[in-house]
Amino acid sequence: MTGKGFDTVTTQREASREPAATDFIRSLVQADSESGKFGGRVATRFPPEPNGYLHIGHAKSALLNFSIAAENGGPCHLRFDDTNPTREEEEYVRAIQEDLRWLGLDWGDHLYYASDYFDQLYDYAERLIRKGRAYVCGLSQEEARRYRGDYTEPGRPSPFRDRPVEENLDLFRRMRAGEFENGSMSLRAKIDMTSGNLNLRDPVLYRILNVPHQRTGDRWPIYPTYDFAHGQSDSIEGITHSICTLEFEDHRPLYDWLIDELEIPHPQQIEFARLNLTHTVMSKRKLLELVESGAVTGWDDPRMPTLSAMRRRGFTPAALRVFCERIGVARRGNTVEMAMLEHCVREDLNRTARRVMGVLNPLRVVIENYPEGLVEEMEAINNPEDPSMGSRKVPFSKELYIEREDFQEEPPPKFYRLAPGREVRLRYAYLIRCVGVEKDPETGEVTALRCVYDPESRGGQAPDGRRVRGTIHWVSAPHSIGAEARLYDHLFTAEKPEDTAGVNPNSLVVVTSCRLEPSLADAEPGTPYQFERIGYFCVDAADSFPGAPVFNRTVALRDSWGRRRRQVPKG
Ligand code: ATP
Ligand code: MG
Repeated sequence: MTGKGFDTVTTQREASREPAATDFIRSLVQADSESGKFGGRVATRFPPEPNGYLHIGHAKSALLNFSIAAENGGPCHLRFDDTNPTREEEEYVRAIQEDLRWLGLDWGDHLYYASDYFDQLYDYAERLIRKGRAYVCGLSQEEARRYRGDYTEPGRPSPFRDRPVEENLDLFRRMRAGEFENGSMSLRAKIDMTSGNLNLRDPVLYRILNVPHQRTGDRWPIYPTYDFAHGQSDSIEGITHSICTLEFEDHRPLYDWLIDELEIPHPQQIEFARLNLTHTVMSKRKLLELVESGAVTGWDDPRMPTLSAMRRRGFTPAALRVFCERIGVARRGNTVEMAMLEHCVREDLNRTARRVMGVLNPLRVVIENYPEGLVEEMEAINNPEDPSMGSRKVPFSKELYIEREDFQEEPPPKFYRLAPGREVRLRYAYLIRCVGVEKDPETGEVTALRCVYDPESRGGQAPDGRRVRGTIHWVSAPHSIGAEARLYDHLFTAEKPEDTAGVNPNSLVVVTSCRLEPSLADAEPGTPYQFERIGYFCVDAADSFPGAPVFNRTVALRDSWGRRRRQVPKG
């Protein structure tokens, strides 16, 4: 370098090896890191509530938090926000960790639960009471709602608002001791009943909920609200940047107020827009509705936008990462096209999936001039995009299956596949010509084709150089294996479904007649394949049996998103 004279100009960023900020959140974090706001420290967290499986929106948030921490040399915590024992389950806690690990995220020993802080949070609540900043309110939920007012009307103070500190402390302790009925009392912050921000109109901090908790058992008859637990948990863990979605923007003044009153370390909250995808729903509540109504077979039904469904369907972590990077983070709400996600999946699988031949809807072909009993091994390339993936042998014999739609008795113009008298190329094998059609005498349905092959055309080239336009895929009938294929389409036909009613009836098409090349006999779940001309597939981990595989179509080959992008005129 010295010889070229470049070494004298090194930007500060290069010197400190920090990545350049690429979005507004990274810029804010970087600015804080440089100004030494948190002693130069960066710690983030991903805080799922264990009340459902993670969806692709959570992946966006998790990837963002984990990568910002990594880029700044800090930890990212995984914290279960388990403050609502009525909706939460251990199954979700397990599934969430499995999905995050699958994405490639690693929280080391930074695994936490908001319920670990119940004692601390209780102490914080007493601290607020002693400061005269919280009171025990005896209004019913319904009454409290009426007192609260709305956007046009200011709230009215609760009749219990001015209870003396000692009485509040006594009542709160008795709440904690389990002396009162569910819902008969609550602990509320004493902030401002006339605030334009409804979150500041004396929000509830603790409610009586005499139900056991999956981690704390029946130790607590009262539970902190999400609003009280969330910010304080971040503070307890020393989180520097609490990155969350926009709906919490209006809660930020409350979180700030609580932390200031408690005089505890103050994380910086930064909000960004939730990810929405077309043709699906994204909130866990709606996804649970789909599961409970039986509209889908479970959280991991391959049509769901959950990570477990995507994994089962064959989407790869690499594709999801690229997708989340490309959509970026913004303050504006955004709905991203499902087609873009599928484009990212195709882009990844195009490079990594082995190409094979499989026939979904088989039509029998008999090659009349092919010697009875002869089997030839045809050399097939595993992935032309990547020569290092090598090749394999595919058996060829007198009886084959081709795709029924690759034959037409009366072909329309520009149909270059098989028709009576026409010649077509069998991929990696020979040229064949159709010389006869067998039909079911009753229905008239074509049941088999009689063909002849050109023995000189091995590999697919005509010896005399005659032009054969069409190339179709095939399998050797006696060597092929049977399989079921599941073809998926959008869960909802509407781009922005209003509710969960009316799942697209064509969102799942089951094809039981598939015949696949024999190399697929030992396909494993998680290994992607491209069935040539049809799409990307993988073995379904849940419903396959030895000798009876079920293949999920991850995505079809046609890329509507990539195609439209290429058509956009250059500006
Ligand atoms: P949902 O409304 O889908 O049930 P949630 O926000 O209630 O989601 P949490 O478990 O509370 O789910 O979310 C954990 C983290 O994931 C939060 O920080 C939340 O902001 C973030 N998150 C949830 N949904 C999305 C989304 N669609 N896009 C980006 N981040 C999201
Ligand atoms: Mg939530």
